[in-house]
Amino acid sequence: MTAPALDLHDSDASQVLRRVFGYDEFREGQGEIIEHVVAGGDALVLMPTGGGKSLCYQIPALVRRGTGVVVSPLIALMQDQVDALRALGVRADFLNSSLDYDQQRVVEATFRAGELDLLYLAPERLRLESTQKLLDGGDIALFAIDEAHCVSQWGHDFRPDYLALSALHERWPDVPRIALTATATPATHQEIAGRLRLEDARHFVASFDRPNIQYRITPKTEPRRQLLELLRTEHAGDAGIVYCLSRSSVEKIAEFLVANGIPALPYHAGLDAGTRAANQARFLREDGVVIVATIAFGMGIDKPDVRFVAHLDLPKSVEGYYQETGRAGRDGLPSTAWLAYGLQDVVQLRKLVETPGGRSGPVGREEHDGDDAHRRRQGRHLDSMLALCETVECRRVQLLAYFGQEGKPCGNCDTCLTPPESWDGTIAAQKVLSAVYRLDRERRQRFGAGHVIDILMGKKTPKVIQFDHDGLTVFGVGADLSANEWRGVVRQLLARGLLAVEPDHGTLALTDGSASVLRREREVPMRREPERTPKAKLAKAA
Ligand code: ADP
Ligand code: ZN
Repeated sequence: MTAPALDLHDSDASQVLRRVFGYDEFREGQGEIIEHVVAGGDALVLMPTGGGKSLCYQIPALVRRGTGVVVSPLIALMQDQVDALRALGVRADFLNSSLDYDQQRVVEATFRAGELDLLYLAPERLRLESTQKLLDGGDIALFAIDEAHCVSQWGHDFRPDYLALSALHERWPDVPRIALTATATPATHQEIAGRLRLEDARHFVASFDRPNIQYRITPKTEPRRQLLELLRTEHAGDAGIVYCLSRSSVEKIAEFLVANGIPALPYHAGLDAGTRAANQARFLREDGVVIVATIAFGMGIDKPDVRFVAHLDLPKSVEGYYQETGRAGRDGLPSTAWLAYGLQDVVQLRKLVETPGGRSGPVGREEHDGDDAHRRRQGRHLDSMLALCETVECRRVQLLAYFGQEGKPCGNCDTCLTPPESWDGTIAAQKVLSAVYRLDRERRQRFGAGHVIDILMGKKTPKVIQFDHDGLTVFGVGADLSANEWRGVVRQLLARGLLAVEPDHGTLALTDGSASVLRREREVPMRREPERTPKAKLAKAA
């Protein structure tokens, strides 16, 4: 199955760019990176999704003598990547668990014969002594470590097998290594360099701005209606991704969209492999398909015309949010990143993060659950995400600042387009905190945000009557705001750490910061909650 050899090894990088890949010029950063790696240097490349990372190792692999060995965690996509390269006349192949013994033997023989430009490997494969011996028997042009943030133990995609990649340098000291990722705060960046032994590598950091993506974050009132409104009014007929936190909400939302005439397909790790592959294939090949997915979907998906990414649940970190929204608009055309989040998201994630031993990490991270440091880190991730949600300033500026980069107010995010009104929420905050303080005496009971709001609004619910809460001094002091507005107040207090969620019952609790509000030592400016979206006609899912 060997493609005819292209005699490329004597041509320079820009010739390969034109002749093999059919592009006229390098994108920002590519030329410099390629030149550095061709010359045998190590590189750590941070480039946003869609920035064009692949060429940064593919071209040097073609220009240098020998085979470029690419380590990638995305087994499901290796076949596609290899097919695409072969269609361009590049001699590419892969070794992973999807091949049978005979197929593997063929690939190994081709490599040994020096007839491969690129060989893709899963990280667990590279750890095997047999694979290392195989590589010793051939000629290696470079090692490319794709999705390099998978080495970060504190990131959201940790793969233990990536840790072993630090040994590459010892075994093959003369082979240049290039590590690439789209996810990296300055801290993760340092961690990648340290763990992969790339201390002496040159760092290439591209701008993380994605100017064609319009960022919008809106309070969640009626999520389905809000989503449908977005799809019908702004993205009719467009391809897009809707992210949900749980498998069951993925299924329900997909059904709901289908019932409302939108071609939607579910994708989550609980579906069998055949269904997942079929749904992914339809999303990639057909026009205007909406995929409803958990975060299991998307890493490495290269579909240029994804017009929107919608989040119906709050991502756990800004990195995750950035990476997921980054799947929109790779073709550079205007696209929407839309997130709806509400009080329940904050309560739920705070609880998760604060529960010792709770299932707080993504799949494969169980070993870290219950680890205090890990929990604190997750808490900080969540705080940053909440700060992004509640900011009254440009979302893009805040997003870029998170990645250590500067930006100017962009004019293409919700806060730039419709500057949020703020109001003095100090008294409202004091009312909420006083109610929580009163209820604190009955600690063993479960009094969530809903109950606190009922008390403030003076509602005689069965629970209010059962606990004589209509006798509290705070009962009915909050009739001036709507339930929706109160939820906004509680949400903003939680987001800013002026109120906490107790891990055991989800009961609201005071924090150190609460005291200063109750003592009137600080003011609490708040964002005004927007009006509810107009009612669209909805069909119920079957
Ligand atoms: P990343 O891995 O950084 O997410 P890719 O390497 O998949 O990005 O590239 C994203 C898209 O941009 C691909 O469709 C790729 O073919 C295209 N691309 C990359 N470099 C160039 C270039 N120099 N000129 C034109 N298109 C490019
Ligand atoms: Zn902006």
